[in-house]
Amino acid sequence: MLHPGTSSVSATDALHLEDEHAAHNYAPLPVVIASGDGAWVTDVDGNRYLDCLAAYSAVNFGHSNPRLVAAAKEQLDRITLTSRAFHHDLLGPFVTELAALAGKDLVLPMNTGAEAVETGIKVARAWGYRVKGVAAHAANIVVFHGNFHGRTTTIVGFSDDPDARDGFGPFTPGFRSVAYGDAGAVAAAIDENTVAVLVEPIQGEAGVIVPPDDFLPELRRICTESRVLLIADEVQSGLGRVGETFASDLWSVVPDVYLLGKALGGGIMPLSAVVADREVLGVIRPGEHGSTFGGNPLACAIGLEVIRMLATGEPQQRARELGERMRGRLDAFVGHGVTAVRGAGLWAGVDVDPVIGTGRELAERMLRRGILVKDTHGATIRFAPPIVVDPADLDWAMDEFEAALRERSA
Ligand SMILES: *Cc1c(COP(=O)(O)O)cnc(C)c1O
Repeated sequence: MLHPGTSSVSATDALHLEDEHAAHNYAPLPVVIASGDGAWVTDVDGNRYLDCLAAYSAVNFGHSNPRLVAAAKEQLDRITLTSRAFHHDLLGPFVTELAALAGKDLVLPMNTGAEAVETGIKVARAWGYRVKGVAAHAANIVVFHGNFHGRTTTIVGFSDDPDARDGFGPFTPGFRSVAYGDAGAVAAAIDENTVAVLVEPIQGEAGVIVPPDDFLPELRRICTESRVLLIADEVQSGLGRVGETFASDLWSVVPDVYLLGKALGGGIMPLSAVVADREVLGVIRPGEHGSTFGGNPLACAIGLEVIRMLATGEPQQRARELGERMRGRLDAFVGHGVTAVRGAGLWAGVDVDPVIGTGRELAERMLRRGILVKDTHGATIRFAPPIVVDPADLDWAMDEFEAALRERSA
C-alpha cells in the first residue's frame, strides 16, 4: 500500500524547487503527494491522506482506478496520438457511446474544460449566424455572476472574480452577466441577438451553489421560447458527482449543449467534449475548429471506460447514497461552527463560521488530521471525495471535521 522511499525527492526539496521555479499561480497546501490508490494518497514521507477534493472532481473514479489504468496501459502499447488529420479506431466508439450517454447526436472532443467552453461559445455563435440568422458580429451570450468556466482570456473576461480578470484585459465582447438563480433577469437580458445562455447547473468554484428548484426548468422554457441555446457547463458537476449522470438531470432538464471535462479523462488524461444535436454542433465545418490532441487514441481509450462505467448507473447510485450519508453528518454541524451547507450527491460546500477560523485554516487543520480538502472564497470548504470512497472512511472524515471545528485556533 505505502511506497515510502520510492520518491527520489524529499518534501523539503520538492517544496523548495517549486517555490523557486514554478510560477506562483497557486497557493497549495503543504503536502507533497507521491502516489494514490482509490480515495487515498500517500506523500513522499509515507503519510496517507484521504483525498476529499478528488482534483476538483476529475478523480471521481478514484486514483489508479484499476479498470481505467488497464485501459490506459493497453492503449499506451498500441498508439497514443495520430492527430485528427487521420482516422483512428477509437474515436468512433468514443463519440458514439458518449453521444448515447448524453442522449445527443454529436460529440466534439477537446482536452481541457476551458477548451470545451471556448468551443461551446464558438458553436453557439456560428449557430446564431448560420441558423438563427443573427447579424454578423452581433451575437451575445448570457452568463451568470459568480461563474467559473476556466482561465482563457475570453472566459475570464466574463468572470466577476477580480483575481481571475484584473490585469488581463482587454476582453472579448458579447457577454452579459446576470444574477445566478434569477430566471427573470435572464429573460430580461435576452434580445434578438442572444444565441446562448451559458450556465453551471450548480456553481462549483463559487462554493457549490445550488440554484432554486425552478431555475433550470425556467431557463429551459425561456431558451426554447426565445430560440436561444441552453449550454450546461457540466465540467465539474457532470459524470456522476451529484448522484446523476448530469446535474441537469436533478431537475429533469435537457440542455441543448453539454460541456464535459474533468472526470471524462478518468483523472489520467485531460479529455473534454462538447455534446449536442446535429442541428447545433453540425454547424462546424472542416477546418473551422480543432485541437492537435483533441480526441487522441489514449484519451479515447480511457474516456470509453469512463462512459461504460457511467452507463451502468452504478457510480451515480453510489454518489447518491454516500452523498446522503455525508450530508446527514454535515447538516448536523450547522450552528456548531458551520453556518451553511449546500450541495448535491457526493458534493458539498460548507461555510465555516469565521469565529472558528478561515477556510484555509480549516483546510490546514484537516491536513494535519490526514484529510485533504480545499477552501474556496475565504470561508467555504468543499467536500468532493472520489465516488469510490469507503463509507467508513467517509464517516471518519466527518468525525475529523467535527474535531477540527472544535480545535482551538493555533
Ligand atoms: C474546472 C472547470 C472548468 C475548466 O476546466 P479546465 O480543465 O481547468 O480548463 C470549466 N468549467 C467548470 C464548471 C469547471 O469547474
